Amino acid sequence: MTKKGTLKKTALPGDVRAADEDAAWPIQDIVDHSLIEKQLTCKRPSSAELKRVIDRALQKTPLTIEQTAVLLAADQPAQVEAICAAASQLKDAVYGKRIVLFAPLYVGNLCINDCAYCAFKRSNDRIKRKSLDADQLSAEVRALEAQGHKRLILVFGEHPKYGPEVIADTVRRVYAVKEGHGAIRRVNINAAPLSVEGFRQVHQAGIGTYQVFQETYHRPTYGRYHPAHTQKGDYEGRLRALDRAQLAGVDDVGIGALFGLYDWRYEVLALVSHALHLQRRFGVGPHTISFPRLRPALGVMLDSKYAVDHATFMRLIAILRLAVPYAGLILTAREEPQIRKEAMRLGVSQIDGGTRIDLGGYAGHRDEQPCAAAEQFSLGDNRSLSEVMQQLLSDGYLPSFCTACYRQGRTGEHFMEFAVPGFIKRYCTPNALFTLREYLDDYGSSEERTAGQQLIEEQLEALPNSVRQKTEQALGRVEQGERDVRW
Ligand code: SAM
Ligand code: SF4
Repeated sequence: MTKKGTLKKTALPGDVRAADEDAAWPIQDIVDHSLIEKQLTCKRPSSAELKRVIDRALQKTPLTIEQTAVLLAADQPAQVEAICAAASQLKDAVYGKRIVLFAPLYVGNLCINDCAYCAFKRSNDRIKRKSLDADQLSAEVRALEAQGHKRLILVFGEHPKYGPEVIADTVRRVYAVKEGHGAIRRVNINAAPLSVEGFRQVHQAGIGTYQVFQETYHRPTYGRYHPAHTQKGDYEGRLRALDRAQLAGVDDVGIGALFGLYDWRYEVLALVSHALHLQRRFGVGPHTISFPRLRPALGVMLDSKYAVDHATFMRLIAILRLAVPYAGLILTAREEPQIRKEAMRLGVSQIDGGTRIDLGGYAGHRDEQPCAAAEQFSLGDNRSLSEVMQQLLSDGYLPSFCTACYRQGRTGEHFMEFAVPGFIKRYCTPNALFTLREYLDDYGSSEERTAGQQLIEEQLEALPNSVRQKTEQALGRVEQGERDVRW
């Protein structure tokens, strides 16, 4: 570091190439501030105009910024209702009843940045700093496997201690922890943006998705929340992060914005713009979109000027569902159970369950209160995975721990389930059923087993005959104790 605490940025060979290639893709191709501002002045649409955009989305066609702006300007109650109904319909058509489950695993909260909203910011002396050592990491993974999890997202603060080789090594260690029938089959990452070389190293460890949230796409607001002399103060460097990931071969990336920092409508248009850019440049859009809302956090003073209320939050989820139909929408345990339930109806396709964000929290006792001094923010949903599963099953959802596509070499799977006719019935539903059967047999309570068995029968009933027979046979193998059956 330099005297002022500024990090010296050294360009690696891969990044020089990236910079050359980026020149052909100016930053405005990712987010064009003037275009977004102009679209935000768009008048409320007529019913016919709104219907045209909704119909386009229902054909599973990604929307342009202009078309998304029409949805944003449609603010009459009947218009909002029409948008929500269409989002729900589109969600059913693309994802069916499946909800993918995962858990976050916080690996280290050391941080050199000073993001005003985050408890991990370096100026916060009320937070207990900790990085999991190898034994603690294994204990956490074992505890997560014992709940039934198969898919994790590793979360890191930004610190030289968490360089790409450490992230890659952590990923390998997580995959290596196997106890009984427990195994983590897909490891995703939420960490600081890396150089092209860094992304390549992490990619080689076999990661699933790499997420980087822009927090706010509005540059002046970004500057207010992220001091310029910190690493994260580099707005453009962060905005181009997932381009660097793609150049390094990570073709599975997740974008996101932290809602509550600036005008939600601006962030929605910018997220759509970012997704369109990735699609144009790399032929593959983001695998997932996240839209966390600001939560209270230890040692953090929040400004409520841009806070997103409940009704607006549902509206923004429905609009994102319609605008980027192929992307998985993630809603974490920051939100309360009732909100998560409503959001799943409107478009959310992935949630976490049994979440702990205090470092080392999974291996501690489940009934222990989370330790606020080690948490990034406070959670809205503190239910166990089993409680989340019971609710999903009783609401008629098909909880899925499936990780098949990525492991069968079908990357860009979100495009398959979205674009290949019959893909969901041939692959997603059977794979979801195999993983649900495993969960019920290895970890389920008697209530979960009863509800799960009924759901499995209903789902089998709805499959075409040829697929149903093969699925029943494979389910029989799972019941006999075979694990990791996948197509
Ligand atoms: N340190 C890395 C970074 O900043 O990209 C990755 C991990 S950070 C722990 C994960 C995300 O948590 C951030 O990108 C931010 O959107 C979110 N976050 C931070 N503070 C929050 C708060 N008070 N409420 C809700 N989400 C928050
Ligand atoms: Fe550090 Fe990330 Fe928190 Fe910012 S959001 S202070 S970079 S952990």
